[in-house]
Amino acid sequence: MSKETLGFQAEVKQLLQLMIHSLYSNKEIFLRELISNASDACDKLRFEATQHADLYEGDGELNIRVSFDKDARTVTIADNGIGMRRDEVVANIGTIARSGTKEFFSQLTGDAAKDSHLIGQFGVGFYSAFIVADKVTLTTRRAGETHATRWESLGDGEYTLEDVEKAGRGTEIVLHLKEGEDEFLNDWRLRSVITRYSDHINLPILMQKAAEHDDEGKALPSSGEWEAVNQANALWTRSKSEITDEQYKDFYKHVSHDWDEPLTWSHARIEGRQEYTELLYIPKRAPFDLYERERRHGVKLYVKRVFIMEDTEKLMPQYLRFVRGVIDSANLPLNVSREILQQSRDVDAIRTGCVKKVLGLLEDLRDNRPDDYAVFWQEFGKVLKEGIGEDFANKDRLAGLARFASTANEGSEQNVSLADYIGRMKEGQDAIYYITADTFAAAQHSPHLEVFKKKGIEVLLLSDRVDEWFTSSLTEFEGKKLQSVAKGELKLDAFADEAEKQQQEAAETEFKTVLDKVKTTLDGQIKDVRVTTRLTDSPACLVVENHDMSANLERLLKSAGQDVGGAKPILELNPGHPLVQKLKSELEGERFGDWTHLLYDQALLAEGGQLDDPAGFVKRLNGLMLAMQH
Ligand code: ADP
Ligand code: MG
Repeated sequence: MSKETLGFQAEVKQLLQLMIHSLYSNKEIFLRELISNASDACDKLRFEATQHADLYEGDGELNIRVSFDKDARTVTIADNGIGMRRDEVVANIGTIARSGTKEFFSQLTGDAAKDSHLIGQFGVGFYSAFIVADKVTLTTRRAGETHATRWESLGDGEYTLEDVEKAGRGTEIVLHLKEGEDEFLNDWRLRSVITRYSDHINLPILMQKAAEHDDEGKALPSSGEWEAVNQANALWTRSKSEITDEQYKDFYKHVSHDWDEPLTWSHARIEGRQEYTELLYIPKRAPFDLYERERRHGVKLYVKRVFIMEDTEKLMPQYLRFVRGVIDSANLPLNVSREILQQSRDVDAIRTGCVKKVLGLLEDLRDNRPDDYAVFWQEFGKVLKEGIGEDFANKDRLAGLARFASTANEGSEQNVSLADYIGRMKEGQDAIYYITADTFAAAQHSPHLEVFKKKGIEVLLLSDRVDEWFTSSLTEFEGKKLQSVAKGELKLDAFADEAEKQQQEAAETEFKTVLDKVKTTLDGQIKDVRVTTRLTDSPACLVVENHDMSANLERLLKSAGQDVGGAKPILELNPGHPLVQKLKSELEGERFGDWTHLLYDQALLAEGGQLDDPAGFVKRLNGLMLAMQH
């Protein structure tokens, strides 16, 4: 095929612009990105060659070569990895066919420093070449193919493609440096960038031996010999004592595509039936695609140091999908396919072990670095809470890691553990009380909390979507029941004095006929009506039975399009409230129905519910307001 000119996808253009402007202060990362791609390409070849050894074409020594040409003002990065076919070049370079692209663009702020983090996470690797180059020429031949492809672009809006010849397989990228970027035409500079960012790359990164100098300081012609600049052994295979924190952190940035440092990590060699090495990291910040169905990154699986795949499902459960790192198995077969992995009991065993490790890591963070744990919880708490329903075996450990907002706090910060709560439980209290609502404000101001405030009993305020799921899966912690304050009959007898109990009984008798009439009036809307002990300031509230779905969950499911025939609520009336007294005095009057509906409707509104007939509500309210004037 002859030379053709193609246009970049609109997103790529936008990304290029952004990158050139946001990443300018950190431009040396282009080298890290291109080396990382070269290393991925070698990993892919090594993996494919486990099935088709002839792909090596007689050259099994995989490496990456970095060189520069002062006169031509070019820097070249070449690998003898898998290479690309013409169609692969078009698919991989020039388009961004990724889920989350939209999301990514919507998160950009225009603030270069903030955006550079996002760009880093998004992994725009290849395009970073244009931070320093105004022309990039990529020549590539896929292993086993005869023809090669040349891709060239000025980074504006277009690129050209043509068929060419290339002796060695793999990819060569020539960067024609922009004016002013000559600092990269320097042996020492390139070497220091490579050692800084790419020391842990698993295969040799070669540069030509520096030219010797003669007695007068003139450079002698270079010998043309290549030497490795990096250590070229997989970091995780080294022993812990030989690895500095800096190296661990740099490696994290490499495997995670994150720009931040990790919060913490665990590195261990596991012996036994399954032998493997794990190096697992907890990031500091959530990736932009944490809630996308198709995520880009996960944990990388190696078998005897051969990269097999990056997995987002099999190696870690969903609720630990933020974990990054490497698992290197010593006994899985090298030619495992994805399909086999999906079924493999051995992989299950590795996963179980790794989950334990991660939970241990989090517990350690919680116990020894509370400030960092708070950062972790802020970023990943919602995701971790999903685990309660997913991972039965680790339920208790997960419950122990959970943090909540609480009436014992001023604000919405989630920093109360179930253990803290139990430690503060009152004499005679036998349950952990919580409320769920769809916003923090709705939880904090719920009428259901009134009696708890009065008695000084702490209530956990849950307003994350996942909390409904969490509380339906966790019913007990350390022998204490979790009890919603909006469910069932409150059993606060232990906190009521004699006088209160008598009052309650008296109220029940006094309101008997009122309650009967309310029940008939609201027939079809409520299951029952009773006198409450929950309220001090509000006239009415709604509760559901212990085993019924909470009103909040019902709303969540409905808003997600699920047709749920939720349970009818129970209306509770506060006998001490003037409006409820008023209702009683209207027992024989013509406005009893209006008062009843109004009390029901406002109870529904107070807990964030929606009225079936808002216009009817307004009409009744207006009617009663006018009636009051007389
Ligand atoms: P990422 O590495 O995160 O996938 P990049 O922008 O760095 O994103 O690279 C895009 C794609 O281009 C890679 O996924 C790969 O398919 C292809 N690619 C880039 N560099 C090379 C290379 N040296 N050899 C083979 N393929 C490459
Ligand atoms: Mg890349």
